[in-house]
Amino acid sequence: MPKADLAFTALSNKGDIEERTYAGALSFLRRRYSKDLTDVDVAVVGVPFDLATTNRPGARFGPAAIRAASAIMAWDRPYGWDYDPRERLAIVDYGDVSFDFGKPERIPGTIEEQIAPIVAAGAAPLTLGGDHWVSLPALRAVHRRHGPLSLVHFDAHTDTWEDERGRLYNHGTMFRHAANEGLIVPERSIQIGIRTHNPDTMGFHILDAPSVHAGGTQPVIDAVRELTAGHKVYVTFDIDCLDPAFAPGTGTPVSGGLSSAQAIAILSGLAGIDIVGADVVEVAPAYDSAQMTALAAAHIGFLILGLYAEAQGRKPPA
Ligand code: MN
Ligand code: MN
Repeated sequence: MPKADLAFTALSNKGDIEERTYAGALSFLRRRYSKDLTDVDVAVVGVPFDLATTNRPGARFGPAAIRAASAIMAWDRPYGWDYDPRERLAIVDYGDVSFDFGKPERIPGTIEEQIAPIVAAGAAPLTLGGDHWVSLPALRAVHRRHGPLSLVHFDAHTDTWEDERGRLYNHGTMFRHAANEGLIVPERSIQIGIRTHNPDTMGFHILDAPSVHAGGTQPVIDAVRELTAGHKVYVTFDIDCLDPAFAPGTGTPVSGGLSSAQAIAILSGLAGIDIVGADVVEVAPAYDSAQMTALAAAHIGFLILGLYAEAQGRKPPA
């Protein structure tokens, strides 16, 4: 008899699943929903926020879409991995952050205050957006415990633009704020897949999309390893890093992007980086087709769990 509804019937925060891919309560990769962070290694948390979107809204539905799409791949470990990250890591689905959209000035602090306990408990957050702006409160929360971070940033956009009108919410500006606040160190950070102009790089290393297409994925892996060596890393994956052919369901698509295969190759090649925080953002399911964008995001999230498992393996025993 197959098990069902592991999102609330699972007896452990570890392990593979035995649940119909098309049925049951949906959580990220069938992890148990819990607010109990005792002995938890990774907490998956949704931030259904899209007020900072500059074009098509709808990323507030991203966390639910990614959880739904993840069910189809929850039965197996990521292809090419010789173990399942869910066997090594205790992972919970922490549910969603809540905030009052009618009181926008309070939202940044509210999101940060709900992610901070995850980090304070010694767990690593895997945040599911929401538009990309959610990375800023998430970075603030991770920085509280871990200090200045190397950012490994997958995107069509640098998101370091200056909003001359000083808007509180603009999902193209938050890494300028993060650098200015000292949350991330541009010289130790890298942006991958960029294909929009921004004259001010702020000192970030950039491997734009044409360079990835011309040079392949190995130089990207080598560059990330070299830049982040000896530093704690935050991985942020804006799904619009992928070409609209692979990820149409997003707010600001740009042609010429990476394939899902290229993204998978790069992420798989990063095993061993000292990852302490991560997010997957900008999935807007209203523009998606056949769940392909959400599925790509779920796959990327699964690989990020693999990076956490590899980093965990390198930690000295407590
Ligand atoms: Mn983008
Ligand atoms: Mn972005």
